[in-house]
Amino acid sequence: MEILSHDIVIIGSGIAGLRAALEASFNTNGKLDIALISKTHVMRSHSVCAEGGTAAVLRIEEGDSFELHAWDTIKGSDFLADQDSVELFVKLMPKEILLLDHLGILWSRREDGKISQRPFGGHSFPRACYAQDRTGLYEMQTLYDTLQRFDNVTIYHECYVTSLIIDNNVFKGLTAIELKSGNLFAIKAKAGVLATGGGARCYNFTTFSHTTTGDGQVMAYKAGLPIKDFEFIQFHPTALVPSGILISEAARGEGGYLINERGERFMKKYAPEYMELAPRDIVARAVMKEIEESKSGCVYLDLRHLGEDKIREKLPSIYEICKKFAGINIVNELIPVKPAAHYNMGGVHTDSNYATPVNGLWAAGEVACSSIHGANRLGTNSTAECLVSGKIAGAKAAEYANSINEFELPKEAIKKEEDRIYKLISKEQGDSIYDIRKKLREIMDKYVYIFRIENGLKIAIRIIKDLKSRYENASIDDKTKIYNTDFISMLELGNMLELSEIIAMGALLRTESRGAHYRLDYPERDDVNWLKHTLAYWTVDGPKFEYIPVRITKWKPTIRKY
Ligand SMILES: Cc1cc2nc3c(=O)[nH]c(=O)nc-3n(C[C@H](O)[C@H](O)[C@H](O)COP(=O)(O)OP(=O)(O)OC[C@H]3O[C@@H](n4cnc5c(N)ncnc54)[C@H](O)[C@@H]3O)c2cc1C
Repeated sequence: MEILSHDIVIIGSGIAGLRAALEASFNTNGKLDIALISKTHVMRSHSVCAEGGTAAVLRIEEGDSFELHAWDTIKGSDFLADQDSVELFVKLMPKEILLLDHLGILWSRREDGKISQRPFGGHSFPRACYAQDRTGLYEMQTLYDTLQRFDNVTIYHECYVTSLIIDNNVFKGLTAIELKSGNLFAIKAKAGVLATGGGARCYNFTTFSHTTTGDGQVMAYKAGLPIKDFEFIQFHPTALVPSGILISEAARGEGGYLINERGERFMKKYAPEYMELAPRDIVARAVMKEIEESKSGCVYLDLRHLGEDKIREKLPSIYEICKKFAGINIVNELIPVKPAAHYNMGGVHTDSNYATPVNGLWAAGEVACSSIHGANRLGTNSTAECLVSGKIAGAKAAEYANSINEFELPKEAIKKEEDRIYKLISKEQGDSIYDIRKKLREIMDKYVYIFRIENGLKIAIRIIKDLKSRYENASIDDKTKIYNTDFISMLELGNMLELSEIIAMGALLRTESRGAHYRLDYPERDDVNWLKHTLAYWTVDGPKFEYIPVRITKWKPTIRKY
């Protein structure tokens, strides 16, 4: 097998990965040899889909403050956030917005020329910076463009990472398949940054790209790292029916209403003060309750009163998406919506500086859990965290790589991965991976959704275990090497099965309701027993769970009302 060598390898090229590569380059004047590897072309990472905005405190003179952003985030998290992580995050964010501005991003602007900020759910001040409703696309373009300046960065587009090589708790590199040749190769590196994004594709109705299958979480999990708080899945209240394409919260931020079949603005029953701009966990549950009482199986987003000019200027993507995917003209028609799986609050366990428990390995962006979002993320805090965590992880990885001497890759780890891949692809007859995947998504939508209950979770766990054993005997028809997407789907399914097991078992054990995790049989938050983080460790028999305390600096948990 070919073994390539770099100082740093960054796995994933979304906002977090690109920001990490830039920081590592800035910090060393382009002297470190950096590899950036992505299973898609860089610009097809899910980050390009981010629509509504990126949160930062820019207007202290108009009433915003770090204290307020931190408080909104912690209250939004239902007090599960680690407060030192949140404090660091809010303080670093404004500089990220200005950095992107200096790098040439086209932020939407106010009449006075300053960067515009729009309201978003759970934020008590309008602090979402945005570029129309295509914020992620513009952020990605700006970062990718800037990265072209550095010739010390080698980009491996369309290379699928299959495993992390970790030896005696020290990161050494990875193995990957180049899609265009089908060859397995290894990269040896002194430091690594895992930035592989989320994993909510184990649900059927989701806003996520097909590529967000939790590969990074599972690579880390299988290498012995703990996965934190993975039972907390964010369901976005407004995905277009029937496709599941996101209708950004920006639509409500700009003044859109949610109405039920009877035309009532129902949020007044559930969050009288914040209405449509309550946090997502609360709005998603309200929408589900209304849907349960409806005949149509959806509620409606009403943007008609905003007028065509505002819609075209501020929400051009929403206008286009509704027209092309539902045949709806939102200037004079209602948008049918229902909640969809959207984000993983949990991820690979890190400290507040995004260091994993493995020396030389950091995690950034959605794959990581330094626990800013706790049990429920506020909209626009994720792209923001991608920027901050990418910056921190990139800088730390560069510093660390500079301090490490040359070493050899452990041969056994490479051999083991080679054997595993060969065994998987060469299986002659077995279950269809697509049948297994379909069943997995069905039961995740049915039993591990917004409202959870002991019995349903137990059924889900039993079926997931059964699907895992069917997967052991599954096979694919395509045995060729070049662009074998059948085989990539097989690897991705293996990851989604592992993650679904962690989600369902973590949810069964957590006998309380907090943020996005709602148990019909335990409807109250239970701080006495459950103000703690879940850690899941891989074992052959399924995840083993441990718990660690939440870091509270100054905000004591209180009743959460909006
Ligand atoms: C439709 C949508 C709209 C959103 N809107 C907003 C918003 O307005 N504001 C906000 O704050 N948040 C938003 N979010 C959330 C936010 O966009 C994501 O959390 C964030 O972009 C994740 O970025 P990331 O850098 O962590 O990973 P991603 O952008 O998901 O990128 C993951 C990268 O990892 C690579 N990768 C994964 N697995 C492998 C592997 N096995 N081998 C090699 N490479 C691999 C992928 O190729 C990709 O490059 C939105 C999310 C969605 C789905």
